[in-house]
Amino acid sequence: MKVTGIETVPYVIPYHHPVVAASGTLSCAEHVLIRIHTDEGIIGLAEASVRAFVYGESQVSIVEAVRLWFEPALIGSDPFAVEDIATRLAWIPANNTTHGAIDIALHDIRGKAAGMPCWRLLGGSGAPMRVTHILTMGKPMEVADEALEAGARFAISSFKVKVGSKDLKSDIERVAAVRNAVGTNASIYLDANHGWTAEQAIKVLNAMVDYDIDLVEEPSPSEDLVGRQRLARHAAIAVMADESAPTLATATRELVSGSCRALSIKTTRTGFTTSAKLVAVAQALGGRTLIGSQADGMIGTAAALAFSSAHPMLACEPGELDYYTNLKDDLVVEPLQVAAGVLTPSSRPGIGVEIDEDKLRHYKVR
Ligand SMILES: [Mg+2]
Repeated sequence: MKVTGIETVPYVIPYHHPVVAASGTLSCAEHVLIRIHTDEGIIGLAEASVRAFVYGESQVSIVEAVRLWFEPALIGSDPFAVEDIATRLAWIPANNTTHGAIDIALHDIRGKAAGMPCWRLLGGSGAPMRVTHILTMGKPMEVADEALEAGARFAISSFKVKVGSKDLKSDIERVAAVRNAVGTNASIYLDANHGWTAEQAIKVLNAMVDYDIDLVEEPSPSEDLVGRQRLARHAAIAVMADESAPTLATATRELVSGSCRALSIKTTRTGFTTSAKLVAVAQALGGRTLIGSQADGMIGTAAALAFSSAHPMLACEPGELDYYTNLKDDLVVEPLQVAAGVLTPSSRPGIGVEIDEDKLRHYKVR
């Protein structure tokens, strides 16, 4: 089987409400559907998501990167040769979610050709994933209500609270409100999106010890290496790296230096091939891994679900797998549905997603 071309379809789906974090606000999903075509008629698909204030990508840049660099490099390639292809594409810097989507689409082809779901292709047994709901950075009682609603509708009992604002007191009040609302059995971790200085983070995290916080993601700026080490030594809550450790080298550096104790694994930016190696790095160095969301719709979530389900180190932790509930609609024929607080990966081949072509025509933007 050979790759014959790559199709890109940018689309926009509005959110129910804007989602606020210290790093910026999102009010709609701006994604690009990527479909890799083959000479045997099998089509692999994935979504690249625009996270302009994280990776500097846009729908236009993703479409152009595929046209200029990814497609010419892939035409004629064997879609099963994912290691070889990843090595050949390694010269293309940045373009994080484009790289991730290309790798996932190749795995989708592999699964479809083999007639098996990606979680099985990757060595898993189809384990269900406990789901974390990411709360927006709103007023304490609004955020607490959002957590209660996710608990009531989907039996979700793991929550990520966005913090890192300039108003440290309001961050503490938001965390306290969520803990009071969800009770002592629920899991809570924080994401400051680099919003605090290291010194602020030490102070505010130590003021939150009574709220039983599991982890804090990116408390302070990535470039402040000295501050991050000081923070890790003096804060009572363990640190999870996200944007500061998206590569094998940075993940190793962060774990070995003691700056973090966990990695957020995002298949949207590192595909399946590099994500699997990041899990291995964490395993070797005693770190935890959680599957993270890159503002994924259902296509990206289905891929993250298949991947995390296949890796026991990820499957034993709650995963950020319901961000799609922020979108007013989605493109898939069979929508994902959290039940009893978990998502079970599809048993259909590949990442298990079929596109609703009518909806794609409706939401495509050019
Ligand atoms: Mg994050």
